[in-house]
Amino acid sequence: SLFNVPVRSKGLVSGFFGMDMETVRRWREDQTDLLIVVAALISGALDRDRLEQELVNQSIRDPLTGLHNRRYLFPRIDEMIGAWARERVGFALAMFDIDHFKHLNDTWGHLAGDYVLREFTALMVEMSRSSDVIVRYGGEEFVVLFAAASRGSALGAVERLLSRVRQHGFDFQGQPLSITVSAGLVHASDVISAKLSAEMLIEIADQRLYHAKRTGRNRVVNAPGSSSR
Ligand code: GH3
Ligand code: MG
Ligand code: MG
Repeated sequence: SLFNVPVRSKGLVSGFFGMDMETVRRWREDQTDLLIVVAALISGALDRDRLEQELVNQSIRDPLTGLHNRRYLFPRIDEMIGAWARERVGFALAMFDIDHFKHLNDTWGHLAGDYVLREFTALMVEMSRSSDVIVRYGGEEFVVLFAAASRGSALGAVERLLSRVRQHGFDFQGQPLSITVSAGLVHASDVISAKLSAEMLIEIADQRLYHAKRTGRNRVVNAPGSSSR
């Protein structure tokens, strides 16, 4: 004797909930009523769970680029610090900032700026591995976390990205735009273990990015006092 009640989520049937007995019997009305109530409770819980997931997703994603924002970044850095401390799985963090972006906005308009932000995002996604974490850190600042990366491989990846940006034909409504990006790169091994934290890595990457800006832009700085294109 099988008795099933549909469980709905967002108005659609997403499963069934019910009872089965090996012997033949008729279900009493109070029993079927109870099952219907329980199925409705499960449906409500599923809807709330979905809504909560959507809200969490919205709070950690940037609507313009679709990338995660900095709220998502810090726990990911902490995970990588954990893997580095336990198993010496190296990782690196790069901070990118588009060069003369204010001038671009002032000259070609905010929509051109938005276009460049989305286009640069696409290039970062194209050039990175699926295990890397890409985040819109601020206005025209982005952070890429290179998972399981040596210093050399991360530097190579940043240099390839900067070169890809230089060669990319940015074109806003028929207007060619010449875009370059500066970067500051830090590897987990640059910081002594006792001082290693997400904040420390961000601070070092930021200082190196600043150094890249001061020494001509369109380059990456990956150690105190060194830069490369
Ligand atoms: P630098 O080469 O030193 O980085 O100079 P910059 O002009 O890029 O730097 P600055 O930080 O002065 O300019 C950042 C600009 O980014 C200012 C702000 O109006 C613009 N911006 C921030 N968020 C957005 C956005 O979502 N869309 C657009 N179009 N512009 C944005
Ligand atoms: Mg900036
Ligand atoms: Mg800038």
